[in-house]
Amino acid sequence: VRSTDTVARLGGDEFAILLDNIKDVNSATDIAERVKSQLTLPFNLGGNEIFAATSIGIAISSNSYEQPDHLLRDADMYYAKSQGKARHEIFDSNMHSQAMVALQLETDLRKAIENQELQLYYQPILALKTAKITGFEALLRWEHPDLGFVSPTKFIPVAEETGLIIPLGEWVIREACKQLHLWQLQFPSAEITMSVNFSSKQFAQTNIVESIKDILNEYDLQPKHIHLELTESVFVENSQAINQTLKQLKSLGLILCLDDFGTGYSSLSYLHRFPIDILKIDRSFVMGMNNDDDNNSKSKIIQTILALAENMGMKVVAEGIETQYQLAKLRSLKCEYGQGYFFSKPVDNKAIEDLLATQSQW
Ligand code: C2E
Ligand code: MG
Ligand code: MG
Repeated sequence: VRSTDTVARLGGDEFAILLDNIKDVNSATDIAERVKSQLTLPFNLGGNEIFAATSIGIAISSNSYEQPDHLLRDADMYYAKSQGKARHEIFDSNMHSQAMVALQLETDLRKAIENQELQLYYQPILALKTAKITGFEALLRWEHPDLGFVSPTKFIPVAEETGLIIPLGEWVIREACKQLHLWQLQFPSAEITMSVNFSSKQFAQTNIVESIKDILNEYDLQPKHIHLELTESVFVENSQAINQTLKQLKSLGLILCLDDFGTGYSSLSYLHRFPIDILKIDRSFVMGMNNDDDNNSKSKIIQTILALAENMGMKVVAEGIETQYQLAKLRSLKCEYGQGYFFSKPVDNKAIEDLLATQSQW
């Protein structure tokens, strides 16, 4: 590089080069090629020849950048894209607009938390044999002032990346517990549970066990009525800290559920290492069952999961039941619990109250 350029080590094996006053993008790619070809030469480390592969992300500065961090972020994004391919990638305007959308979403989400644009919807979970409601899953809804409803599959990942999931997740637990408490007062004979989705990133909250304990006390709830829904990634990670926290949550008396079972990893070894109480069969298996083929592979997979759960003393909830046929099939397979649009979409608390009021069972 020229004497006017800057080379910095950002950390670990990551470096940044700032090229000041270049003519055009070609100057940057030329230098990237040069850096790469230099680094393909073997290093001699203690008599061993070591080869290093280099990936480079390039971002071109423009007037639209307001902060140096954003330029680094864009270069980093392209670095990530080029990783493993030993080549360089140039940040383009398309990528730029994607980064901008994500950034805007982050800004909006921060405001949404303050402005209380977030709300919980609830989807009933039923005992399939009797069609009696046994509980609800709390699902976050965000009504954006301009965009309308934004799907949690869009904003939860942003919340996880930015750490916003910690305050957001705590709010969800508190709100869901408060709601369960109110319903218990309103419908004293109803024995209902509340399921809350719990992101693996929430394990980073140091006082999470204490915080949940306090919330349970505040709303006078029995821990066994709160189900935490975790995904397989939590268990596969097998981190000491997470395992410790899981054990503490379990000994508090909370029920642990494995969400979207069957879509994550094929390793089953973690199933007996962790105190999982409930498997939730991913909706892709349930929705794959249809009348055309009475013995299709999806229902065989479900049958296998049911046998596995029974052997391990776990209960099973089938997600995504949309048709009478799927319900009948699951009943015949002796699947105990389920949820899905066939019974009810996720709805707001008022709609649930109407539903509970009409349940003849209580
Ligand atoms: P999930 O926990 O697996 O939730 C079930 C999703 O399936 C929900 O989507 C629900 O609306 C949808 N669903 C339920 N029954 C049916 C059906 O019969 N057919 C179809 N096609 N879909 C059905 P939703 O509400 O969009 O949530 C998506 C995901 O976002 C959730 O998947 C969960 O992973 C995440 N999420 C939602 N709320 C929270 C939250 O408070 N915290 C965290 N960490 N994640 C959340
Ligand atoms: Mg869930
Ligand atoms: Mg699920």
